Amino acid sequence: MSIQVFGLPVSRGVAIGRAVLVASSRVDVAHYFVPASQTRREIDRLRRARDAVAAELSALQRDLPTEAPPELSALLDVHLMLLHDDALAEAIMHWILERHYNAEWALSAQLEVVARQFDEMEDEYLRGRKADMEQVTERLLRALARDGMPSLSSVAQPARDFAGEDPLVLVANDIAPADMLQFKRSVFTGFVTDVGGKTSHTAIVARSMDIPAVVGAREASRLIRQDDWVVIDGDSGVVVVNPSPIVLEEYRFRQRQSELERARLNRLRHTPALTLDGENVELLANIELPSDAQAAVDAGAVGVGLFRTEFLFMNRGGVLPSEEEQFEAYRSVVQTMAGLPVTIRTVDIGADKPLERMSPQELRHEHSLNPALGLRAIRWSLAEPAMFRQQIRAILRASAYGKIKLLLPMVVHLREIRQTMELIKRARQQLLDKGHSIGDVEVGAMIEVPAAVMMLPAFFRHFDFVSIGTNDLIQYTLAIDRADEQVAHLYDPWHPAVLKLIADTIACAQQYGKGVSVCGEMAGDPAFTELLLGMGLRSFSMHPAQIAGIKQRVLRADTRKLQSAVEHTLQADDPQNFWAAACDRVEDTVEIALPY
Ligand code: PEP
Ligand code: MG
Repeated sequence: MSIQVFGLPVSRGVAIGRAVLVASSRVDVAHYFVPASQTRREIDRLRRARDAVAAELSALQRDLPTEAPPELSALLDVHLMLLHDDALAEAIMHWILERHYNAEWALSAQLEVVARQFDEMEDEYLRGRKADMEQVTERLLRALARDGMPSLSSVAQPARDFAGEDPLVLVANDIAPADMLQFKRSVFTGFVTDVGGKTSHTAIVARSMDIPAVVGAREASRLIRQDDWVVIDGDSGVVVVNPSPIVLEEYRFRQRQSELERARLNRLRHTPALTLDGENVELLANIELPSDAQAAVDAGAVGVGLFRTEFLFMNRGGVLPSEEEQFEAYRSVVQTMAGLPVTIRTVDIGADKPLERMSPQELRHEHSLNPALGLRAIRWSLAEPAMFRQQIRAILRASAYGKIKLLLPMVVHLREIRQTMELIKRARQQLLDKGHSIGDVEVGAMIEVPAAVMMLPAFFRHFDFVSIGTNDLIQYTLAIDRADEQVAHLYDPWHPAVLKLIADTIACAQQYGKGVSVCGEMAGDPAFTELLLGMGLRSFSMHPAQIAGIKQRVLRADTRKLQSAVEHTLQADDPQNFWAAACDRVEDTVEIALPY
């Protein structure tokens, strides 16, 4: 039966594929594909885990005190029986041999299948046996973890060869940003999650991969089953499960259309971003990993406007990257960009980007009462001075190889600026004393909190430039958790207060002769291009895949005609509608002249 699930569209395009369900387990489960040559090894791991758990359960049974209730022994019998169930073992092996899942993934995939079967049973006693299955699986997962797990980074191997013929889409309750990154070079052609907001970091990474994605689709991971055919419409937020042939054909048509549109836009890659009235607009790239820099060059970016370095720090089991490792990473980006500027943001750990993987529950409730307002970004860095010094030294050293700009996240207090500037000064001196050469590094701040906008004149005594992080600026202005789908409808970039803060920041930077850019998601959203141009913005930083689309808008814009419409929009109660009407009027007068 075909069903539809609705969520938030976060990354454009249409993906069609078989569902791979990533079960949410109490035990951390790694998901990766193994090459055909290693499937036997996975089956051996599973056998060893089964033997270990069987020994564990038998020992438990043997050592049961005589006064223990007889049900306990019977329960252990049931667990042992499940453990030795041939049909179950075969089903798990099927996932390994046919789908090339690693042992942990195969186990949790089969648990998902069996759990649904139990859920559908009429008999209450039998339905209750689901808990036994979960407990046995959990014991097996723990045994596998003790046995040693190949590193999660193997998820990132180019898995196309191992994964069979059908395209695959990933369906999960939630995916941590760091895990999302692991899927960057994998086979998945689309993502659906139950939770998340439009600018949650999971959504941002999906967009950076330019893969259709829908988040906040609440029931998706419950309604979709392993192997179901799924259409993910990343433009409208609709997920169609087991579509009829007619619907499927319609989506395949749309898929081809959007591929053609992308190919057409790609031809703008090397065209300079000049408005109709000759204003030069800088289109920069946001990157998460050094390996993304090549995509930035290929997309025609004129530099990196935001390198989110925290992704180098995540999921490393508490071992942070050394100065040397960071230096190599930053240098490689600078070298790939071959003379173009690279803006490196110091780590923005915290909130929805924890250092180590956590369940959404842990993330929201246990780790910190209110992580978005807690120890994150520059606050975390200043609380870890040894780590911060290392990062600053690595960035300064890389500046000998090209133009680097250093960007500080979520600055609010002047005290934070003074402390950081002092650290930078000392690190520079230490490096010079040791004979390192250092380039001319500009230092700037992310503007992500309303207080920072109010402090701009004071900030500009210290900073060479600012970059507006609209994702957080919206979150902190409107008091809306950007990762919470329950309040996603209130997360509004068009809110008059948000627009006013952005316009004020651009105007103030111009008044003080300082550089200003926008690196939040608004920069890559074509709905805002003209508005931001009309506010005076000439520097936009976005995912590489968005550059061509924004360039097309820039080429069609006449900034002289936008200014007064922007001024009136900023006074309007409903800026979105006011702007749409104003644009219709402006469009009438603008001759659309594309260079192709
Ligand atoms: C922002 O807040 O807009 C931003 C670019 O930073 P991040 O999304 O990494 O928080
Ligand atoms: Mg931010």
